[in-house]
Amino acid sequence: MSAAALAALIRERQPCVVLTGAGVSTESGIPDFRSATGIWADIDPFEVASLPAFRRDPERVWRFYRERLDVLRDANPNAAHVALAELEERGLVQAVVTQNIDLLHTRAGSQDVVEVHGSIRSAQCPGCLWTEQADAVLAQLEARPTPTCPRCGEVLKPGVVLFGELLPAAAMERATQLARGARLVLVVGSSLEVWPVAGLPLEARAFAIVNRGPTALDEHALLKIDAGAGETLSAVLDAL
Ligand SMILES: [Zn+2]
Repeated sequence: MSAAALAALIRERQPCVVLTGAGVSTESGIPDFRSATGIWADIDPFEVASLPAFRRDPERVWRFYRERLDVLRDANPNAAHVALAELEERGLVQAVVTQNIDLLHTRAGSQDVVEVHGSIRSAQCPGCLWTEQADAVLAQLEARPTPTCPRCGEVLKPGVVLFGELLPAAAMERATQLARGARLVLVVGSSLEVWPVAGLPLEARAFAIVNRGPTALDEHALLKIDAGAGETLSAVLDAL
């Protein structure tokens, strides 16, 4: 019933832009951050994933990040990623703005993906802005604890946004424009706790939410479905 209601909203309120968070990838075996079983339940993000930590102890940050890379590169897109790619293919989703760094939307076939927290695709040199692709970074990590810039020798920074770091300006600008132009922002698998991305639905004329558990904006949503992303989006596709 609620999937049918969401399908009707998507059909009626074009353009529709999707905003995804960790909950869209948990069904791919990728742990989220903030739930009771999430990554930050055991580890302090400011020790392993913040800009000050990277400056103080890049080896520790890379140790943590390399473990994540191994998990993320072994994961595969799930029914939710596939359904969102199919919705774009049918012209019912304009773009996917994602907080996820795992590349699973792209691997599922989504064409227009805006990565507002960066991605595991590459690492960057803070000195000369060289971009090193993930395969080359992993090859370096086989030989030493931190990868370095082949051009200037500085320690590379993971291509994901660290705590204390600004979001990539071009991606955030594009995400904001997409939200402002949308007649529906569909939030999937995000508890909308991490700003400024959590504010994007408020830029749109209306939004709907698919998420297990409450979000910060439930009472303002046109529709809230408290269920898993894969099952819900598959049902929405069937209803369209
Ligand atoms: Zn460099």
